[in-house]
Amino acid sequence: IKNIAVLTSGGDAPGMNAAIRAVVRTGIYHGINMYGVMQGYQGLINDNIKPMDARSVSNILHLGGTILKTARCLEFKTDEGQQIAYNNLKKNDIDALVVIGGDGTFTGAKRFSENFGVKVIGIPGTIDNDLVGSDFTLGYDTAINTVIEAIDKIRDTADAHDRLFFIEVMGRDSGCIALRSSIASGAEAVLLPEKETSVTDLIDKLALGAATKKSSSIVIVAEGHKQGGAYDIAKKVKETFDHYDTKVTILGHLQRGGSPSSYDRILGSRLGFAAVNALIAGETEQMVGLKGNEIKLTSIKEALTAHSFKLEPDLLEMTEVLSI
Ligand code: ATP
Repeated sequence: IKNIAVLTSGGDAPGMNAAIRAVVRTGIYHGINMYGVMQGYQGLINDNIKPMDARSVSNILHLGGTILKTARCLEFKTDEGQQIAYNNLKKNDIDALVVIGGDGTFTGAKRFSENFGVKVIGIPGTIDNDLVGSDFTLGYDTAINTVIEAIDKIRDTADAHDRLFFIEVMGRDSGCIALRSSIASGAEAVLLPEKETSVTDLIDKLALGAATKKSSSIVIVAEGHKQGGAYDIAKKVKETFDHYDTKVTILGHLQRGGSPSSYDRILGSRLGFAAVNALIAGETEQMVGLKGNEIKLTSIKEALTAHSFKLEPDLLEMTEVLSI
């Protein structure tokens, strides 16, 4: 392998810069020419590919977002778009690609590799933690830290006014952020896309809390909960339960940003380092991940079987037990 390009695609996640830095410096350390592709697959199609040296990734380890930018690129989903992307890779003499992103990014990479034989290694970069093959994906830990910092502040005001807060967090299909945030913030209840919770059960729980002198209550709602978002749930609860003054906060995109936690900086560094080493070892169509504190390769095909249940059973049980 002589020339490797790296790109970030799909939703951005804190820690992506740590991974880019590690990919670039590991490659350079081994005498490989390194390139950065701007705006994900869009940059492959637009030939927005630039050489990178060790200094081009200086002072980025602590930054959220991604210096390579990211994009959602519909053209890459077409055969014509993939052909243009391949022509540009050939033009730049690039033999392998490291893609940092989520399931959509990996689906595109897999097709690209199958169509043109380009070697690809994936790094799981998504705050949703919805990929098989890594206990944590890049950005997940930072997102949880951001959520609990916000909830701690909301708790202060909730407590002062005897309020019931419904806080909506990211997770269209995955309740990972919601579940961990609920444990770390001591929420009274959590509503997850993966689990049916009836509004009646929720009201019973809140009523029990009120009866046992809880001065405030916090309910975390994952945006993909089957009965609706935080506003919908709050409205339904308020119809029959008005013990507290009810408020809703949607945390939204602030969950995507911020300086990566130490965990995500180290994870990004480990996965970037491992991705280049995997390419050097001749691997392709693999995702590098961390399982039980060890770097593991999982085929991208298997990583994409993801949307299976990834919520830890002990955490699920604890949400009931510790919130009494
Ligand atoms: P996140 O989990 O944060 O949303 P993601 O990687 O899943 O990240 P997507 O927007 O789903 O984000 O995918 C990123 C890009 O991958 C798409 O914009 C598109 O360019 C490419 N892609 C997705 N699906 C395919 C596909 N079936 N074929 C080719 N390319 C694809």
